[in-house]
Amino acid sequence: MHVLPVPCHLQIRLNLQKQQVQTDIEHRQKFMNLAIQSIGSSSSGNSYLITDGTTHLLLDVGLSGKNIRAALADANISEDAVSGILVTHEHVDHVKSIRMMSRICENAEVIASRGTAHNCDKFQYVPEDRLRYFSAQDETRIGDIQIKGFALSHDASEPLGFSFRKDNTKITVVTDTGTVTDEIYEEIRTSDVLVMEANHEVSMLEMGPYPYPVKRRILSDQGHLSNVACGEALTRMLEDRPSLSLAGHPCEDGKLALPKILLAHLSTTNNTPFNAALTVRDVLDQNDYHKNVNFRMEVAAKSAAGPLIGF
Ligand SMILES: [Zn+2]
Ligand SMILES: [Zn+2]
Repeated sequence: MHVLPVPCHLQIRLNLQKQQVQTDIEHRQKFMNLAIQSIGSSSSGNSYLITDGTTHLLLDVGLSGKNIRAALADANISEDAVSGILVTHEHVDHVKSIRMMSRICENAEVIASRGTAHNCDKFQYVPEDRLRYFSAQDETRIGDIQIKGFALSHDASEPLGFSFRKDNTKITVVTDTGTVTDEIYEEIRTSDVLVMEANHEVSMLEMGPYPYPVKRRILSDQGHLSNVACGEALTRMLEDRPSLSLAGHPCEDGKLALPKILLAHLSTTNNTPFNAALTVRDVLDQNDYHKNVNFRMEVAAKSAAGPLIGF
C-alpha cells in the first residue's frame, strides 16, 4: 500500500499535540501525592475530581453527566476506575447527575449523610449496596486517601464538607456554608489546598434582583459565604499558619510551599470572578497577606475544568 507523506504543517501540528499530551501526563505524574481539579463550580453546578494518580474520587455531581464524563475522559480516567462519589448535600447544584454517575461509575461507593440521602428523590436510584452513610467527624479511607466529614452551616438536611489527606498533604473543600464554625475552621487551618466558597459580593446581592426572603436566606448563617467572609477566613488561616508543621512541603528553593486556594461556588447573579478575586485579595492585602508571597489563589471556572491543584 502506498502511504502518502504527511504534509509538513500537519506533521508540526501532530508533534505539538503529542508534546501537549506528554506535558499533561508529566504534569499529572508530578501530582502523584494528592490533587484536586474543579470540573466546574458555581451556584448552578459543582463537581470536583480528587486523585492521587491511583485512586479517583468525585466530590459532588451537580453538573450534567455529560460534562463530568468528559472531564474524566480528558483526565484519562475510566468511569469504572472511580472508587467514590461523595455528596455534600441534596441541593440540585450538587446532586444533578447522581443517578447517572452512580450507575456509570459501577465500582464507586456513594458517600453522603442520612439527611442528604433521605431528602433527595434522586438517591432512590443509587444502588443500595454501594450507598454508605456518613456523619460529621466520621473518617474512612478509600485507596490511600483518608477522608473526613465535617458539618456545614447551610439550609440543607445534614450537609457535610469533606477533607482529603494523603501522607502530609491535605485538601479541604468548604462551600455552601453561611458561616465558618469552629469545626470547619479546624479543617481549614491545617489544609495545604483549600477550595473555599466566595459566593457573593454583598452589595451586588443587596442591589440585585432576588426577592427579599432569598437575599436574607443567602446572607444568614445557614446561607453562603460572601467574598469578604471568605477573605476573613483565609486571613485567619494564614495568621495561624506559621505555627503549624503540616505546611512543611519544601519548595525547590528550600522555602515552604505556599498554601493553594481555589475560590469556588460563585453566584452567577451576585458575583463575578473579577469581583471575587478582587475583594478576597483586598481583605488579605489589608492584613498584609499577599498573593504569590503568602499564598497562591485561583478562581474556579463556572463550566470549564480547571488545572489539577495539589502537591
Ligand atoms: Zn451549592
Ligand atoms: Zn446548597
